[in-house]
Amino acid sequence: MSRFFSEKYSALTPYTPGEQPQDMKYIKLNTNESPYPPSSKALSRASEASARMHLYPDPECRTLTEKIAELCGLSFPQVLVTNGSDEILNFAFMAFCDEKHPAYFPDISYGFYSVFAELNGVPYKEIPLCEDFTINLDDYKNLEGTIFVANPNAPTGIALTLSEIEKLILQNPKSVVVIDEAYVDFGTESALSLIDKYDNLLVTQTFSKSRSMAGARLGFGAGNRELIQDLNTIKYSTNPYNINTMTMAAGIGVLEDAEYTEKNCKAVMKARGYTVKELSKLGFSMTDSKANFIFAKHSSVGGEKLYRELKSRGILVRHFNKPRLCEHLRITIGTEEQMQALVNTLSDILEGR
Ligand code: PMP
Repeated sequence: MSRFFSEKYSALTPYTPGEQPQDMKYIKLNTNESPYPPSSKALSRASEASARMHLYPDPECRTLTEKIAELCGLSFPQVLVTNGSDEILNFAFMAFCDEKHPAYFPDISYGFYSVFAELNGVPYKEIPLCEDFTINLDDYKNLEGTIFVANPNAPTGIALTLSEIEKLILQNPKSVVVIDEAYVDFGTESALSLIDKYDNLLVTQTFSKSRSMAGARLGFGAGNRELIQDLNTIKYSTNPYNINTMTMAAGIGVLEDAEYTEKNCKAVMKARGYTVKELSKLGFSMTDSKANFIFAKHSSVGGEKLYRELKSRGILVRHFNKPRLCEHLRITIGTEEQMQALVNTLSDILEGR
């Protein structure tokens, strides 16, 4: 830390992203990316757009925002496009949390929530998940602040149903309820359909997972127009040009290629089913994941040992060195071939080969 670093940030522990080795020698199952390349339509649109790199991008991001709104059954003022969904989440902490409106989220969830709370100097309360990693909705009643729930949750992959989400919103009329749907496309019902009904619901989604665009950084928030207006106030006070020209064009391209996205999601869900079946045979227990990852624990071998053994054999998975999580591995679902390699390697490790 330099002697110039502001005291208000000096105790901040930044988010630790998953490893991103640059040599590509690993089968990468650690950061929940798509194993499939970007849509060719996304690539050609981005390539054409790069010729306009000398100009600032459209700060309204109008064409892409309108396309997203149409897809969600909403209108332009109900959507804000951001630099990954991390940015809309940070905007939500900035816009809707303060000393009188703490942030509430499960104690086991996306690790960035507490970092955003710390960064913005807002109080937060982590509400413990049940023993089986599910959320007890009775723990979220009449809260006055902002509630962040990832649905499905990370790193467990467990999803709430749409009626449970509606109950959460109804139980907390004085709170903004943020539903983080980063992994919604792998088998969870979206809460987008509730937006016209509730003025305290913000849904966030990303192009990083099902749409194979993690490197382009594109996400969005959707909600009541006043909520979106507030978030726009934050956006125009931090970075009006938050979406670069190439990403904006790629986003339009991938939305024109809905069949490709759907095909990839189906393949991931099929490979997830295969992996769950095979890992059960090897002695793993898993949560009921609706995401593009599974959360697995072996009956006798610890999470850290398995993580290290897999890494030494060229397979990267995510291990969290935290109580309640440290015996588990979070394994991204890749292609069927990658998952076969994972199963074979785990089988070798467990049999001492
Ligand atoms: N929410 C959850 C639950 C996530 O796991 C992630 C990705 N790590 C994000 C949001 C943010 O993703 P991105 O910024 O790539 O949209």
